[in-house]
Parts: sequence; C-alpha cells; structure tokens
Amino acid sequence: MAATTSITFMNVMYTDIGINLTSKQFNHDAAAVVQRAIGANVQPMILTGTSTANSRQGAALAQQYPGVLFATAGIHPHDARHFNEESINELRLLLLQPAVVSVGECGLDFDRDFSPRSLQEECYEAQLQLAAEIKKPLFLHERAAFARFNSITDNFSTGLPNAVVHCFTGTLQEAKTYLDKGYYLGFTGAVSDVKRFAHLKEVIAYMPMERMMIETDAPYMMPKNVDRQVLLPHHERRNEPAFLPYVAATIAHIKNIALADVAIQTTMNAKKFFAL
Ligand SMILES: [Zn+2]
Repeated sequence: MAATTSITFMNVMYTDIGINLTSKQFNHDAAAVVQRAIGANVQPMILTGTSTANSRQGAALAQQYPGVLFATAGIHPHDARHFNEESINELRLLLLQPAVVSVGECGLDFDRDFSPRSLQEECYEAQLQLAAEIKKPLFLHERAAFARFNSITDNFSTGLPNAVVHCFTGTLQEAKTYLDKGYYLGFTGAVSDVKRFAHLKEVIAYMPMERMMIETDAPYMMPKNVDRQVLLPHHERRNEPAFLPYVAATIAHIKNIALADVAIQTTMNAKKFFAL
C-alpha cells in the first residue's frame, strides 16, 4: 500500500540531492519553484548537471542562492556523443567552485542508447578519472548497464572518492552490490510506484538508513502519493523539489519509522557526503 495522501510534513528539513532545474519545463518559473521548495522545508537542494552547458547553468544558479542551491558538474551518458577533452577541462574548472559539490551525473544508460555505448564508456571513464583527481564525490547514473558499469567503476576503485547511485530502481541484489562497495543510494518518487517498481519495497525495507539519500529528479519521477490539490494548473505532471516530502513519506511508511527520522537521517547523509 502506498503512503496515505494526507501527510503532515513536520518542521524538519529535507535535502533534495537531484533536481534538473535547468530543464526547459522550469524555464518560466525556476525562481518560484525554488521558493516553493524552501516553503516546503526542502533545502539544501543539489542541481544535477547533465552536460557542460547545463552544468555551467547549474553552477551559476547555485551562486545566486548560497547555502540553498548546490550543483553537480558532469555529462549524462545520453550526452556522451558530444563529449571531448575540452568538456572535461570545462567540468574541471566548474568543480573548483565551492558550490559545485560533485562529479556527475555520469555513468551508463544502455536502456535508451541515445549515445553509442563505446562513447558512453569513454565519457564515463574520463569523469571517473576527473573525480579521482578533484576528490569530489561521484553522482552516478546506471540504467540497464549494471555489469558493464560495475566492471568499469571497479577498475578505478582504489583512487575513487565515494559515490551515490542516484535514482536507484534496481533489484535488491544490485543494491547489496553497491552497498558492499560503500556507495550510497538515492531514491525518488519511484518508491511510490507500486505497479512499475513494486520490487523497490524490499529494497527500501533492507536499506540501512545511514546509506540512503532522497531526491525528486524533478521534473521527472512524480511521486504517486502527491496530493492532487498541490499540483499547479498546467503543470499537473511536472514534479518539483517541493514534493520531496512525499518520497520521504513512502520510505517512512515502508520502514515503519517516523517521517522526521527519514528527513533527518537523509539530510545528515547528504550533508556529510557532499560536504554541504
Ligand atoms: Zn540519472
């Protein structure tokens, strides 16, 4: 059963580790989206960089909201076909900024294959190298590429900083593999999708709270338990960072713990992991 829709969100803070605020779905009201998130006690927030261009935009936005917005700098596997040596240099420069806290998102996506796999692998390896050099943690994306992703990552394991596998939707066995390596896992509204992601219930039940982080992955991954009346007209299908407490509520429900405990523990993990 999904968490109930009438949730009292207490006065605790939630940390959203993954928002695509530079998505064109937020073009017209990004500032209002940030304000609504702050109003819902969702801060700090980390903007996900998926290309050199939007990593640059994310870093600029983070500068406008010191202590509230942070950013990652990286190239999503979908964008790997545009990657070259110059893009890595650009990411390196962005990562010198204190508000740019993580390398990624980077990884492999063999589900949609928007870039050729050979280029995805090359682009991923270059960013692992960069993380080892810069010593900022990794924000990882893996979809339908578990075996290859792990074999590439393991080749670097000695020199790598810690990693979070964001938007985790894999199996319990895959979760255990990542936990054994010391990684954190990021969970989205997928946890409330009991049709498509029913298996996440056992993953959440198993997850040690001290290795869990939460994220909206907005504007994607709308939690199924969001109150209809909080959805904005014309944006009924757009997820927002303000909805992060619904992700926490599903986790609290599955683990049978207090919502505040999910908020407090995942915030503590994020602050430590990203040095916020
Ligand atoms: Zn991703």
